[in-house]
Amino acid sequence: MASNNCIVKARPEKGGLVFESRDIPEPGFGEILIKNRAAAICGTDLHIYNWDAWSQGRVKLPCILGHEFGGEVVDVGPGVRHVKVGDFVTGEGHLTCGFCRNCRLGDGHVCEDWKGIGYDTDGCFREYMTHPEMNTVINDPDLDPALAAIQDPLGNAIHTVFAADCVATNVAVFGLGPVGVLAVAVLKAIGAAQIFAVGRRNQLRIDLARELGAHHAIGSAETDPVEYIMDHTSGKGVDVVLEISGNPRAVQDGLHSLRMGGDLVLIGTSNEPSTIDLAKDVVFRSIHIHGVTGRRLWHTWDKMKGLLASGSLQVEPVITHRFPFSDYEKGFQLMNTGNCGKVVLTF
Ligand SMILES: [Zn+2]
Ligand SMILES: [Zn+2]
Repeated sequence: MASNNCIVKARPEKGGLVFESRDIPEPGFGEILIKNRAAAICGTDLHIYNWDAWSQGRVKLPCILGHEFGGEVVDVGPGVRHVKVGDFVTGEGHLTCGFCRNCRLGDGHVCEDWKGIGYDTDGCFREYMTHPEMNTVINDPDLDPALAAIQDPLGNAIHTVFAADCVATNVAVFGLGPVGVLAVAVLKAIGAAQIFAVGRRNQLRIDLARELGAHHAIGSAETDPVEYIMDHTSGKGVDVVLEISGNPRAVQDGLHSLRMGGDLVLIGTSNEPSTIDLAKDVVFRSIHIHGVTGRRLWHTWDKMKGLLASGSLQVEPVITHRFPFSDYEKGFQLMNTGNCGKVVLTF
């Protein structure tokens, strides 16, 4: 019988992972069995690896980590009607109920009863996994498996960019983690006029943003981003700010970099509350604030398919490292240094 190696968070401590073989699961009703070809490590996996306050409150151990994957369908359970053996697929990692009011109104990204694979249930860091057909997306068979696996954060970036009108407008991205640099690539693909990328001091990621198409890529540790953006927009500010860092200071800088009537799109999160002067910075300047979470089901995935097919979306440079699946410790440790873009495990 084939092995089914899994990365399991077993112990409530930093690290605390074990690599063990489990039985290959049987696909249940409406489920497919996937043999993974690539899986990417997300910031969420890193939170769980480091066993921070959020993970301690959310994750029940033991749990197989991971939610970003691409693989081949090797079996289908009863009731599966659309996905076939041999399809190259990726899955949406947020499992929605399909029944609550938001799901039925087409807003599954804010399902009242959603669960995330890799922290609420067993995830994708395993050779063979089952997944609901309804949460599966069929990829172009020629898509690089590593690229297929990063569609979860790419989808976050697309959802963020499409939350405001970024076509032919001036846009600033605050925060150059993987979602931030992916947002730069999406802005480039859809034709933003001027793209400002604002990191902190991580030169690798600032350079990556420039490579992906940012017209300006700066570090706020050295350059005041508000002053810089005002200097390059005739003192008026950008039309849209995408805040992807969650840093309370960046939220303020973002607001102060916007033109009157501009849009602030927030997807970054922080454990600290942000303070903003609503009257001065939002009300009297008629700023629109949008909160963004997850990927719109299935609007974001549809746009992603189109953007990948267009040939104008270049995201390969975001994948800076690939390790064999069993070398996952190297991947997590590298992620902790921040000297990387997306780190992908290959099977
Ligand atoms: Zn993720
Ligand atoms: Zn629901």
